[in-house]
Order: sequence, then C-alpha cells, then structure tokens
Amino acid sequence: MYQVGSQVEMKKPHACVIKETGKKANRWEVIRLGADIKIRCTNCDHVVMMSRHDFERKLKKVL
Ligand SMILES: [Zn+2]
Repeated sequence: MYQVGSQVEMKKPHACVIKETGKKANRWEVIRLGADIKIRCTNCDHVVMMSRHDFERKLKKVL
C-alpha cells in the first residue's frame, strides 16, 4: 500500500527528463491522500492531482 511520502512509478512516465541520465522521469512522491490524490514528480517538482480511481488505474508500482 501507499501513503503520504511513498514513492511510486506510474504506467506513463512524466514528460520531463532526468539531466544525469537523459531518461524520462518516473518517480513520484505521494503528497496528499484523500478522495483526490496529489503526486509530485521527484525530478521537476511538477504536481499532478487526480481522483483515487484514476490513480489506482495509472499506478504501476509502489517503490
Ligand atoms: Zn517531472
């Protein structure tokens, strides 16, 4: 399970690129849990909010 502070991978990586590796970033930190969920890209700090339903659908794995 995940909680606030958990790091997760999503099925679709973020559009940003990690400078050191040149790869697309796909590590998000859960920053809010409720009916809606907020995750923050650990590479660029972009925040995405989605419903819990969408999150469960898009979640690949909890790291
Ligand atoms: Zn990003």
